[in-house]
Amino acid sequence: GNEKTEESADGPVIIQVDSMSKNATKVWEKMKVKQNQKKVEHMNPKTPVTEDKIRFVCISDTHAKIEYCPTDFVPDGDVLLHAGDITNVGQPKEIKKFNDYLATLPHKHKVVIAGNHDLTFDEAMEEKLNRWHVKKEQVKAFLEENGVNKVKELLTNCVYLEDSMVTLYGINIYGSPWQPWFGDWGFNLERGEEMLKKWNWIPEKTDILITHGPPVGYGDTNFDGSRVGCVELLNTIQKRVKPLYHISGHIHEGYGVTSDGYTTYINASTCTLRYRPDNPPIVFDFPIPEGH
Ligand code: 5GP
Ligand code: MN
Ligand code: MN
Ligand code: MN
Repeated sequence: GNEKTEESADGPVIIQVDSMSKNATKVWEKMKVKQNQKKVEHMNPKTPVTEDKIRFVCISDTHAKIEYCPTDFVPDGDVLLHAGDITNVGQPKEIKKFNDYLATLPHKHKVVIAGNHDLTFDEAMEEKLNRWHVKKEQVKAFLEENGVNKVKELLTNCVYLEDSMVTLYGINIYGSPWQPWFGDWGFNLERGEEMLKKWNWIPEKTDILITHGPPVGYGDTNFDGSRVGCVELLNTIQKRVKPLYHISGHIHEGYGVTSDGYTTYINASTCTLRYRPDNPPIVFDFPIPEGH
């Protein structure tokens, strides 16, 4: 069956950097011939969940807009997943507002990662914040007023993942904010080696992988038709980690669900290319592992 193996007969799987990974469109042209890619119908969120399954509800790229959506915009479920870009520029007041909004949702668990727009989550951006008219001193003052040291501590109504894992109902969920360099935003890294180093931290036992950016080929078509997903991420997913689900956002126009025959890829971008929160949340049911 689909028994997971940590190691192949020859030892652990080592992913090699693709020499062409800086040109994702070109890599995908070659790769897609051997891919068994299918479009997947979105599940109706009104379908009742069965006892043997956990319902996941995916949103992403809400960019400080979902707080103003109708209260029934996000369907109920056991676990809410957010794949990053919760804010526009990482202002602590945007984060606090999002956290207050989370408190109004009925889900038993909420799991959130940051995206490139959530600038203040990335400590390496501290000296660059004024580029987005974010004042470092004001951020510090806000945190002090709220009695916390870091912006992630403002997220009290969810589990915040940053290159880390949480296990819910025996299901391993790993989250990571990094994406290929674009415009010098938060958690930007060069394609190739730099990206692969982060993906090498993802444990094989991951069942649901959340990254802000999509992998090449799955939910990563830019408005101009080019592919902008991460090559090293797709190789890591397909050759080493093999999660049953991958959740992303970031490329808003890549919203939707696809499959490679094993992993289901959900680009859950709530906002459209024009930053309007028009795309409905995407729902899936995950079978509860044996013994849970
Ligand atoms: P965001 O600024 O919210 O991270 O991304 C918004 C939009 O910027 C995306 O929907 C996409 O059109 C564009 N974008 C983001 N990252 C990239 C990238 O790496 N390459 C290209 N060409 N466009 C990107
Ligand atoms: Mn976004
Ligand atoms: Mn695995
Ligand atoms: Mn983004």
